[in-house]
This record gives sequence, C-alpha cells and structure tokens, in this order.
Amino acid sequence: MYEITLTIDGREVAVPPGATILDAARKAGSYVPALCHHPDLKPIGSCKLCIVAVEGLDHHPTSCNTPAEEGMVVETRTGELQEMRRHTLEILLALTNHPISCLFCDRKDECTDLRECMRKFPVTVGCKYCPQDGRCELQQAVEFVGLEKVRYQLSFRNMPVLREPFFDRNYNLCIMCSRCVRVCAEVRGEGVLKSNPDFHRMHWIGPPSLMDSDCKFCGACVDVCPTGALSVRSEKWIRPERTVSTVCPYCGVGCRMTLGVEDERIVSIAPDREGPVNRGQLCVKGRFGLDEIVHHPDRITTPLIRRNGRFEEATWEEALDLVARRFSEIKDEYGPDTLGALSSSRCTNEENYLVQKLARAVFGTNNVDNCARVCHAPSVTGLASCFGSGAATNSFDQIEDADLLFIIGSNTTEAHPIVGLKVIAAAKKGVEIIVADPRKIELVDRAKVWLNLRPGTNIALLNGMMNVILREGLEDREFIASRTEGFEEFRKVVDGYTPERAAEITGVPAGDIIEAARLYAGADKAMIIYSLGMTEHVTGTANVMSLGNLAMLTGNVGRRSTGVMPLRGQNNVQGACDMGALPNNYVGYQPVTDPKARSKFEEAWRVRLPADPGLTSTEMMERLAEGRGVRGLYILGEDVAQTEPDTNRVRSSLEALEFLVVQEIFPTETTKYADVILPAASFAECDGTFTNGERRIQRVNRAIPPLCGLANWETISRIAEKMGYPMKYSHPSEIMEEISSLAPLFGGVSFDRLDLRGLQWPCPSIDHPGTETMHLGCFSRGLGKFNGAKHRPPAEEPDPDYPLILTTGRRREHYNCGSMTRRSKGIMWIWPEETIEMSPADAKDLGVEDGETVLVSSRRGEVRVKARVTEKSSRGVAFMSFHYQDVLTNLLTNAALDPQAKTPEYKACAIRVEKIPT
Ligand code: SF4
Repeated sequence: MYEITLTIDGREVAVPPGATILDAARKAGSYVPALCHHPDLKPIGSCKLCIVAVEGLDHHPTSCNTPAEEGMVVETRTGELQEMRRHTLEILLALTNHPISCLFCDRKDECTDLRECMRKFPVTVGCKYCPQDGRCELQQAVEFVGLEKVRYQLSFRNMPVLREPFFDRNYNLCIMCSRCVRVCAEVRGEGVLKSNPDFHRMHWIGPPSLMDSDCKFCGACVDVCPTGALSVRSEKWIRPERTVSTVCPYCGVGCRMTLGVEDERIVSIAPDREGPVNRGQLCVKGRFGLDEIVHHPDRITTPLIRRNGRFEEATWEEALDLVARRFSEIKDEYGPDTLGALSSSRCTNEENYLVQKLARAVFGTNNVDNCARVCHAPSVTGLASCFGSGAATNSFDQIEDADLLFIIGSNTTEAHPIVGLKVIAAAKKGVEIIVADPRKIELVDRAKVWLNLRPGTNIALLNGMMNVILREGLEDREFIASRTEGFEEFRKVVDGYTPERAAEITGVPAGDIIEAARLYAGADKAMIIYSLGMTEHVTGTANVMSLGNLAMLTGNVGRRSTGVMPLRGQNNVQGACDMGALPNNYVGYQPVTDPKARSKFEEAWRVRLPADPGLTSTEMMERLAEGRGVRGLYILGEDVAQTEPDTNRVRSSLEALEFLVVQEIFPTETTKYADVILPAASFAECDGTFTNGERRIQRVNRAIPPLCGLANWETISRIAEKMGYPMKYSHPSEIMEEISSLAPLFGGVSFDRLDLRGLQWPCPSIDHPGTETMHLGCFSRGLGKFNGAKHRPPAEEPDPDYPLILTTGRRREHYNCGSMTRRSKGIMWIWPEETIEMSPADAKDLGVEDGETVLVSSRRGEVRVKARVTEKSSRGVAFMSFHYQDVLTNLLTNAALDPQAKTPEYKACAIRVEKIPT
C-alpha cells in the first residue's frame, strides 16, 4: 500500500495516507503532549499542546489535526515549542482552577502512603502514588514541558465528588478537554454528557447523578479521561503487577479486554483497543460486571456431595470417584442412552469438545446438547437448510458499510451493545434502518420504518414483504437463476401473503410492509440482523428460513455488507455448537449418522460410537417429566432450573433424575437439585478459545490459577479417566490440535496462529487466512435453497382468561440467569429487581400504577412482580427478563417446541395480570 514518508526529530517514518503529524510522531517514538486528543475521537486541536515545528512553515501547527505530508521535516521538542507549551499549560491550569498540589508536590519522592496524604490534602492526586497509577496525562505533560509552578492565583473549587455506580466524578480535576463529552456522543451515540458553555464557573451540567439520566454506564468517558476527574472506584490505588488479554465471557459479540492482576486477583478491567470487534469499547457488563464476580465470596471452590439431604464438602478425589462410579453403574444397569450431558455455551471450545467426547466416547451416547437449544438452534437448522452453513454469513465490521440494515427480533443496543454501536455508527452515516419488533426498542428512534408486529407473526410479515418484492419485480432474477433452487415452490407460498393479509395477521399497516419491502429490495447492500425474537418461537426454524429466502430473493447474500447475521446470546454459543455439543453432529457439523464421519471419530478416539442422534436438552427434560429417558445427567455451567421454560416442569424433571452432577461457579437454582456439585473455573482462570457470533475464534488467556484447583478441561478428563477411558492432554492447545485434525472447518486453527484478531472459520488449512464473508460465488451447499414457510400462530394465544401476551428478553445490565451480574453491586444499583413492562393502555385498563406489585399468572404458574408502565410496550404485549432468582419468569413461559430445532417458545405465552388487593 502507498505510504507517506516524513522525518520526525531526525527519524524517517512511513504512515498511511490520512495519518496526522501526531500519528507519525507516535510511530516515530516521539512523545507529544495532547490533552484534548484521543485516537478514537475526531481531533479538535483545542488544547494546543501538540504544536510542532514544520520546516518551511511560518507557524506551529497542532499536530493532532494536521495531515502528514510527503517529505515533511518535523521537530517536536524545540526550546521554543516547550516554552509555548509551558505558557499554554499554565493558562489551562489557571483557567480550570486545577489543583496543583498533585502536579508540583515536593514530597513526591519520599511519599510512601498516598492514602494518608489524601486524608490530609484531599485534592492531592497525580503523584506517583496517585489513584491514576501514573496514567495521569496531565502530570505527564507537566513533567515533559518542565512546568514548575503556576504564577496565577488559583482557587480550589471544592466541588463535591459525585458518586455513581462504579465510578466517581470529581470535576475539581477536570481540565475541560471534553474527551468524555465527545466519546459519549461520537463513539457511543448517546450524548448524555454535556459541557457547560460557561467555561469558567462550573464543569458539569445535567442531573446530579447519572442514575437520573440516560447513561448506560459503559465507562467510555472514564476510559478517555486524561486526569483523575473520572475514575473507577475499585481501580483507584491499584497498580496491577501484570496484564492479561482475554475475551469477555458475557455475550456472543466477543469483545477483547485486558485484565489487571495483582496478588493473583483480578483488580482491573480495561477495553482492548486492538480488539477486532470492540476496538476499545465495552458495555457495562464487560467493563464493570466481572472483577467483583471472579473473587466473589459465593464462588464454589470445593466439591460438594449431597449426604442425608445436605451438601457436605468433599475432596476432588472423593467427588470424582463418586461421579465416575454412579455414571458407570447407571450405564451398566440401564444402558448408555440413560446418561446425558449438557455442555456450556459459557465455557471454552476445548471444554465443550471434551464434554461431547465424554458423552460419546465414555458414556456411549449422543445425548449431548448445549444452551443453543433454547436460543439459536433454529439458526443452525434454518441457515444450514438455506445456505449449507448454520452460522452468520458476514462480519460485524461490515455493518457500517451496508446501505440498509433490517433489524428483526433483536434488541441490539441492549442485548449486544457493541454491535449496537456499529448500528448507531451506520445510522449516523446515513445507512437506512428498518426495525421489526413488538416493542419500541431504542433503535426504533433511528429507524426509517418500524414494523410493530404482534409476537409470533414473523413469517407473515416476511412473506408479505417478499410478496411485494415479487409483485413489483424487485427481485434479483439473475441471482435466483444462477445461485438458488426451489424458487417456484417458494413463490407459490408467498403469493398467498398480500400485504393486506400480512397486515391482518401481524397488525402492521400494509403501507409499512410495502415501504419496508421497497427499501430492502432497493438497497444495493442490505444486511439482516436478527436474534432470539426470531428463533424462540414454535416457528423458529421457519422464521430463520424466511430470512434466508428474503436475502436470496434480492441477491443480498454472498457479498460484503449483506447477508444474514444471527446475534448469538452467550459468549461461546457458536463454539459450543461448532465443537459438536449437539446430539446430531460431531465437531465441525459432521453428522453422527454419516458412517464415514463416525468411523473417522471411532478411529481417532479408539472406541465404538453410537449411530443414532441423541436427545436434545428440551427432549431430555420433556421425557424426564414423563418418567422416562435419561437417569444420570452431567450439566456444565447451565442453570436449566431458572432459564428453561415452564420451571415447574423442569423442577419435576430434575427431581426425577437418579443422579445429577452440576459443575458451576456459583450456587444456582439447578445446583439445588444436584447430587454432586463440582466447582468450575471462571473465564479468568481458563486457557482456551471462544468463538463469537461472526465465527471468530479468539484466544482466552488464563490470568489467575483456577480458584477451585482444577481447570474445567482437567475435571472432564479426570471423570473420563475414572470411567476407564484415557483422556490425556497437558494443555488446551493439544485439544485444539485434535479438533483441527478431525474437523476440516477448523483444519488451519492452532493456538500459535491465534493473535489478537483471531481467525474466522471456515479455516481449512494452516495457510488459510480465515473467512470474513461466506458463500462468495457459491453457497456451502452449492445452490442456495428457498424454503417457503406458512404462518403458524404461537402455541398459545391470548384469550379472555389470559388476555396479554408475555414476551421475554435480556436487559442490558444483566445476563442469562443473573448468577454473575446479580453479584455485582454496581449492576444491582442500576437494575435491582425484575419488573413486568406493560403499556400505559393496559395498565389503565387494569387499574395498575407504575411501581405497583402485581400478580402475573399463566397456565403454568404465577409470580409477583412490580409493574413498569412504559411506552416501550405495545398494547396487549408485556415484557419480562429471567435474570432474577426471586421472580422466576420461566414459571410462566411455555415449553412448546419448534418441531425442527426443538427450541421452546419463550417469546409468546398468554398471561393474566392482576392487582393484588391491599
Ligand atoms: Fe461483553 Fe457483549 Fe458487552 Fe462486549 S457487548 S462487553 S462481549 S457483554
């Protein structure tokens, strides 16, 4: 690539076109103070400290916003520049009344106890013991320019320190660089923070607490603050001994983060600017909801065995002997298919691979599954049916370059906040957005069209749009003819869904359906983003196939910035499926029913393998409730008793088990039913890989040793060994070697190749760079397949007894069963309890006030919960999450299954809301 060459302080340096002189100086290793500048923000050149001398120029340009030019000769540290900078800095300190004791403390070198000093001089920060841990850029600038005193009268403003969840705001230390204000608006798209136009009097406008604002507590403002004005409370005074790069263990976006470690404790977390997806940003959960969790006193660190109805501590040896003995007894007495394993979408690929190997090679059954069953299994079956691969077709980075984004069944900014940032950035660039959602989610405000459909009517909506596209001749005929099959049969189905009929079923006005169809078909590059609002229905697979139909109909797949993007829920739900923690597939989606695949695995694992697909997790629960199926179950890192639908039925299923082993980091609803609880290592204690929602395999690095003494892969191996099957590995990298030797999709993946960017599969050979965009020129299955789908209503519709529809989903601050996020004090400060969201119209009909506790019941159970009356809910539709143990929302939900993927219908069940008599 063409580069610009220039000379900085006598050193020649080459930078790409568009780089600034400051970029070149940093590349050349020359420090230039720049207090208003941050690489993620547009340069504004306001602090004037980054001035440089350029040969041939009669003035000193600010380097942060002056482009580097070929042949430039630049000096960054002349006497004149330093003199000017000293004046500028002196005036800046005077104008902002910044306390100077921190900058010119004459005891700096003797000081050994800053806390004591802080007690005496509360504004003393910035010395080598400062809470900023030497990260104070102001102090660095003062030292660099040699400023030794401020000649002007300064008055300490003594503004109160504002205490927020997670961080403090001390505007006494603010130097008005506006980085926080700009990152909030420019990068996060929020605009919550504002500068006071009256520069001299106060540095903050807005509510006294950010709790009273729209702040999402992402921490981006704190991360760009160059002084101690904004600082994370738990990270003050902390100087990590070392840092470790790893991946966030919450959602499937796959944000990279840096863990700070001191005395084998995680003491800080920072977003990684090299992270290929998050590029220096995290959401509230990743930024603040982890360090406290890893060392939480509730962590299970010792094996527990139930004896006489009570859990008693045991040694690993005792517990693993018991587990191996009981599983072996059940297998011998009732046969291998009476055992089962539920693997974890929260655990690494290597751990998931071992769990399915344990089930198949040791238990002797294909009864193995993971939590994708209750979320994105329809994506796997639906997309595989259309395209031949059940994964995201494109990459998150391509979102901003699309012409149109069709967001359906995904509350992106709350459930996948960092992907939400990319959508917001796209919207700011003028990319048009269509939102289809029964709730008025945040992205509705940025959408050109909001298709406010009734829950469970996605197929009718999509068929209506495709009917318009075909009727108006907007389809891509060449693409259909050359790259697909099954079009004519599909067309016959869609012909029956005029926009008027679709409107009748969905409740969306026909005009909006027509407009959305024209917008989508008219875009050169249209990308579909969806999530559980599509999959968690009895029509989940057909819903996903309809998205595939729409993309193929308009030729919007197999190119950059097009395609179909399922946003994965848990951090490694993609990987758990990839690794074969599924009842029908070995690692890399090789069917267990394929004799060739089976004999390959039999040879590699040196054991006979079962030929028939096993039971899904939902089938295991269903049969258990009926008193048949599995008798012994191993669950790694999944709280089925809180997260599976129809909790009463799940409880009966777990009670019906003869022997239940649960491996967890915290006590959960499910551990209550265990015979043995095995402690698990958290993400910070694991070496391995996670695969995010765009098929990117990333390295997870162990920061501290497992608190329970054993890594998860070691626990699984030891169970296998005690059951008589040798499973010898010395490091997870050896497990990955075995994976890549058996699965062509991952043939080129090894730990050595996984740098910070990771690798996106398919990656079949060691010289393959990975695949950003799938189905270029040819689908994985050859021709793409149209699958016409007909509308089918939800399994349960409202009626006079249960007149509202309950739909469930995630809240930004919480995650899944909440066993981690509910243990974060800051997160509980923001979202302390469950609520049922309902529309003002429904609340009025029921005489319910905002904040009032109501009784919510369905045909399966009831809960008491506070009402939240909000315009977000449409009339007739209520919303709850299932993050809270004290309000078990899944007592209400319906376990009716999608017939293909066996995924339950969390997104629609009939409920009644009643006032509780006082
Ligand atoms: Fe973690 Fe997801 Fe938030 Fe990123 S978006 S920080 S992966 S929870």
